[in-house]
This record gives sequence, structure tokens and C-alpha cells, in this order.
Amino acid sequence: MKTAYKYASILLMVALAACSKPAEQETDENVAVTNKEVTETIELNIYSARQEHLLKPLLDKFSANNGIKVNLVSGRADALLQRLESEGKNSEADVFITTDAGRLHRAKEAGVLQSIKSQSLTSKLTAQMRDPDGYWYGISQRARPIMYVKGRVDPTQISTYEQLADEQWKGKICIRSSGNIYNQSLVASMIESNGEEATEAWARGLVANLAREPKGGDRDQIKAAVAGECDLVVANTYYLGGMLTGEVEQDRVTAEQIGIIWPNQNDRGAHINVTGVGVTAASKNMDVAVQFIEFMLSEEAQSHYALENVEYPVINKVAHSDTLKSWGEFKADSLTLSRLGELNADATRLMDRAGWK
Ligand code: FE
Repeated sequence: MKTAYKYASILLMVALAACSKPAEQETDENVAVTNKEVTETIELNIYSARQEHLLKPLLDKFSANNGIKVNLVSGRADALLQRLESEGKNSEADVFITTDAGRLHRAKEAGVLQSIKSQSLTSKLTAQMRDPDGYWYGISQRARPIMYVKGRVDPTQISTYEQLADEQWKGKICIRSSGNIYNQSLVASMIESNGEEATEAWARGLVANLAREPKGGDRDQIKAAVAGECDLVVANTYYLGGMLTGEVEQDRVTAEQIGIIWPNQNDRGAHINVTGVGVTAASKNMDVAVQFIEFMLSEEAQSHYALENVEYPVINKVAHSDTLKSWGEFKADSLTLSRLGELNADATRLMDRAGWK
């Protein structure tokens, strides 16, 4: 027994000795690789409500410039906000990108964003383009003007949003539904400017002038107008721009028949809005998140918006694309965009009362 035990022990020791060296080396190498990953692969997780193809080229540039790996989750704006809310503190997301100051405000109110007070960010953006408490920063701009079918409408006949309620336009206007946040924000801007009573009367007048019950998105209104269903539409600029510069020939032909009327140039200016970004409340990656927002506000990224996405940059230094130039300069409403969020509930109720479907 004793001898057998002794032999077994010796065999075991030999076996261990034989194994130990390569095993140790392997372990050391593994540890080295793991450490390398920890120190070198910094990651940023983005939840984005923007179409992936609009954002991806910018994310690739950001990764290439900074050596940061970006993980992108794209989805619909409301679904992503809900996801952030349900994930709470456990969310993997570091930043949230979404459209419309009204929605950015909702995210702030829902508690899914954290306040970032950064001199480098606030120095790049005017107060209009960011949340006063630092919960979100605008990264691209769009306007929501009146558009008309060339040859069918004399564009000098209408110069304000208010005039969309004039009897002259009965049965001639297409606009999407009141459930759409772009319209809610437009109405919010009118409440701020004209008060609730006047805006409600206006909304009733507008509804009475609609050529059809609201349906579809902004592109659908443009197409309906050119097809003869209506003469005037209200739509965001990048939809027209996307049709003009896109691959689909029929869209280009359609969009070329549309002209832009910049409303309210003698008073508050045309209604504008932003897409924006905020750092999530759950993020422990704040430095990288801020670095990302700084990149989105860099001339490089802003030029991309102006040249490739047919959106307006949020900083002034950047050159506009030929399409943006062709629409001319305009005066924009100077309202602080966070107000659109604060007035969103009032706007939504008002549209409901006015019968805006
Ligand atoms: Fe849109």
C-alpha cells in the first residue's frame, strides 16, 4: 500500500512538473492579453433613434480618430426611450441620440439622462441649441417650413404659419398627424409666440383647411402635393433634401417641383428643431461620452451633416451643401429649444381639442 502510494505521489509530481511550466506560460500570456484589452479597448455604447446609415460614417470616423470602439444600437425613438427607462441603472448605454427637442426633453424628464456641465460643449453651442441644465446637446439642425407646388401656388401669397388657417387655403393643405412630435413642437413654438388661445383658434382653422385626414410622414405630404391632392405642405427640410439628393429618380423629379417658403421672416422666424445627444444616467463612461459629443460638434462631423445628410449644422463655421444653399438664407425662430419640450403637453392637448387627428 505504502509503496503504491509513494509511486502514485511520484507519478503525480512528475506529471505536475511536466505540466506546470507550459500551463504557467499559458496563464501569463492570457493575463497579459486580458490586461492589454482592459487598457486599450475603450468602448462607447450608443442607443440611437437615427437611421443607421446617417450615423455610421461619423461613428467610424470617431473610432478611427480616437481608438474607441463604438457599439451602436439603432431603434425607434420611443422604443429606445422605453428601453432606457426599463433598463434603468443597469443599462449598457452611455449615450442616447434622438430627434426633436420635445423628445430630448421627455428623456430628461424620464430620468434616463445625466447632466453634463462641460465648458468645451457649452462654448461650442448657443444656449438655444442645448438643454439649460446640460441634459442634452443639439448635434444637427432642421427647419420645418411651408412648402408649395411650383407653378400652382404664388409663394408671395403666404408668408406665415398663421396664414395656413386663412380661408384661402381651404382643402389645399397636407400635414401629418398631431401624434407626430415635429408638429407638436411647431405648435409649442406657436403657443410660446402667440399664446394658447390664439394657437388653438389657428389649429382649428388649419384643420378646416386640410385636403385630407392626416396620414403618412413628411415625404408622403410632399408626394401628395405633387400628385395634386394639395398645394401646401409643412415638412422638415431634410426630407425634401433626401428626395432631391437620393437614388430614386421619381423622388428627385417630385422634389424638384417643390419650393420652400420661409415663414415668419418679418417676425419670429421659421420653426427649427434639432437632433441631440445626452449622456445616460447609467453611464460610468462619462469622459468618453463627452469626448463623443465634442466630436459630434467638431467641424469634421458638422460638415458631414451639412454635406451628406442635408441637415443644417449647429455650429456656424461649416460650409453648406449646394442643396442647403439653393434654399437660401432664412431667419430662424430664436426660441430656446428646451421650451418646445416644456410646452409639449400643452401643445398635444391643444391639437386634440382642435380636432387635429
Ligand atoms: Fe424625421
